[in-house]
Amino acid sequence: MLYAWIDGVKRPPTAKGERTACHDCGGTLTSVIPAENVRHWRHKTGDCDSWSEPEGPWHLGWKEAFPEDCREISLSDSITGERHRADVLCGAGTSNATVLELQHSSIPEDERIAREAFYQQDHRMFWLVHIHNHQKWNFGMSLNWQSRPVNVKGKEFAIMQWYGRSTQFIEKWKRSTAYVFFEFQEQIFFLGGKPLSERIAGGTPLEKGQYALCHLTHEEFIRSVSGA
Ligand SMILES: [Zn+2]
Repeated sequence: MLYAWIDGVKRPPTAKGERTACHDCGGTLTSVIPAENVRHWRHKTGDCDSWSEPEGPWHLGWKEAFPEDCREISLSDSITGERHRADVLCGAGTSNATVLELQHSSIPEDERIAREAFYQQDHRMFWLVHIHNHQKWNFGMSLNWQSRPVNVKGKEFAIMQWYGRSTQFIEKWKRSTAYVFFEFQEQIFFLGGKPLSERIAGGTPLEKGQYALCHLTHEEFIRSVSGA
């Protein structure tokens, strides 16, 4: 995790040897100050959030795009007591409360479903999926803004066809019940959900590998997470 409470301040570690206690589990956190990566805190005996993943500059950069009191917010299920740390939570306590999960590594479908079920109990949920590995080429090749463009509320959508034999990646995100955004070469794209995609496609469900996409600026994305 990038932030922890130490001496009454929530912050990243600043020096080697710093220690504090995790606000969620009470476990000891020690500072990690790598030469080549982002400073962070590490649980001495394993992270109490089973969904945590190693975080680097991409995570840090996005967390810093939001106010400090919106970063790494711990949430718990009032009935089961299950507890997880949302990467970003904006508008807590309002009807626009939005959890943003930053996804850099690939995620198994059952975990995607579990995270959506947990966070969507009381929040809107957004994913920002970093397309940076082997999907990068397929995604780039499938961008075609001339393909059946449709304007929805001032936003230009087009129907893309996933490039390549396996459509597993795009089909997995098409099944999401949350709002899915992709970051590809520092550009942000919104993946149309099922009802919207069908409307864009003229009332017919999209075929395997097809998906509806629109482009957003970073400012538009940050504003929509912030509920503005
Ligand atoms: Zn903990």
